Amino acid sequence: MSRIEPRYDVVVVGARAAGAATAHLLARHGLRVLLVDRSRYGADTLSTHALMRGGVLQLTRWGLLDQVIDAGTPAVRRTTFRYADDLVPITLKESYGVEALYAPRRTVLDPILVDAAMAAGADVRFGIAVTGVERDRHRRVTGIIGRARSGETVRVATRIVVGADGIRSTIADAVDAPYERVGKSIATVTYGYWTGLETDGYEWNFRPNAASGVVPTNAGQACVFASASPHRMGRGGLGPLTRIVAETPGDLTTRLAAASPPASLRTFTGRPGYLRRAWGEGWALVGDAGYFKDPLGAHGLTDALRDAELLARAIVAVLRDGAGECDALSAYQASRDALSTALFEVTDVIAGHRWTDAEIPDLLLRLNAAMADELEALATLPPLPALVHAPC
Ligand SMILES: Cc1cc2nc3c(=O)[nH]c(=O)nc-3n(C[C@H](O)[C@H](O)[C@H](O)COP(=O)(O)OP(=O)(O)OC[C@H]3O[C@@H](n4cnc5c(N)ncnc54)[C@H](O)[C@@H]3O)c2cc1C
Repeated sequence: MSRIEPRYDVVVVGARAAGAATAHLLARHGLRVLLVDRSRYGADTLSTHALMRGGVLQLTRWGLLDQVIDAGTPAVRRTTFRYADDLVPITLKESYGVEALYAPRRTVLDPILVDAAMAAGADVRFGIAVTGVERDRHRRVTGIIGRARSGETVRVATRIVVGADGIRSTIADAVDAPYERVGKSIATVTYGYWTGLETDGYEWNFRPNAASGVVPTNAGQACVFASASPHRMGRGGLGPLTRIVAETPGDLTTRLAAASPPASLRTFTGRPGYLRRAWGEGWALVGDAGYFKDPLGAHGLTDALRDAELLARAIVAVLRDGAGECDALSAYQASRDALSTALFEVTDVIAGHRWTDAEIPDLLLRLNAAMADELEALATLPPLPALVHAPC
């Protein structure tokens, strides 16, 4: 059986950081938006979740940070780096209104973004797996085709399809989005949640050939992770994580031993970073679908929230204000790439664990400088004109 949905201005595939945020902004600006995901509302996903300043700035601007705080997400006001024999604590200073960092579980953050999209007027459907795009005779993308959990085929016509469907993006593959930059490094990350771990903020530990860290999160838990080459990490889990942490100077091993360990850990086997072409006729990509880098930089969510806004601005300019699609979407990609290149390159080096104790401080400074540039670019975006709240 086949179900035809009404026509939308935009169909967004993938209802997490990138997709739900994009749908929220588009709906707030009066566009008819459908947000679909094959998963379940509120489901967890394979990801730790440290937000950097740019991500917190976005949630603040969209009026959503209070919900993150109300969910019991602890404020992080200190980051401690450990490398070689140095311990470098950094106390966060207020910048562009960001006074603290937060690391909400994805079961907290993603539903807040989905609820905001719904409240702004987007239609949201979970349980629809998109299998491809539909095109007209000029090859312009004109809709999506997918399958509902009931087995029904679902077809939706739209003016623009946004692929926000993550690293194995069906949309990016369906439109054959070229890879424009590919990284060299693959690292494996293993992580789990300790209860009652003593920590006073983000902790990032770097040793040649491995890294580890702590990210305080909801429900009195702290996410503890380790990253190393796939060869060294093997299948991940408690053994490799504990061994990597034990190599770090400091007392994390002792603190872990005093806390309650997780029943199980999750492991991401890794893949090289990439930037894919971000747009074409009738389609655009946002989040990991078009731009991925190793999790060790802890920046994918922040970039997803950043690019959701850059893309939403471009689409609003086209569909509401009559700008040329090619001009607006190519400007979106140019901004994405300009803000991403430095981060992408330095993350690739750090994640490749191709550095010495003497080199890592400089790499971290480069990472920090790229994040500062990104924050400034976001903070100085002009307000979007004429916000239309919740269409009737
Ligand atoms: C181990 C690990 C740790 C990480 N740690 C951090 C961190 O600490 N900080 C940070 O900022 N980033 C981190 N990241 C990166 C972060 O997880 C990603 O950048 C972020 O999830 C990207 O969000 P997204 O919305 O683009 O994609 P995703 O979160 O992957 O969401 C994609 C959605 O699309 C849906 N979908 C996929 N295919 C289809 C389809 N065919 N039809 C319908 N729906 C579909 C999926 O169900 C999913 O809900 C980490 C990543 C990993 C792997």
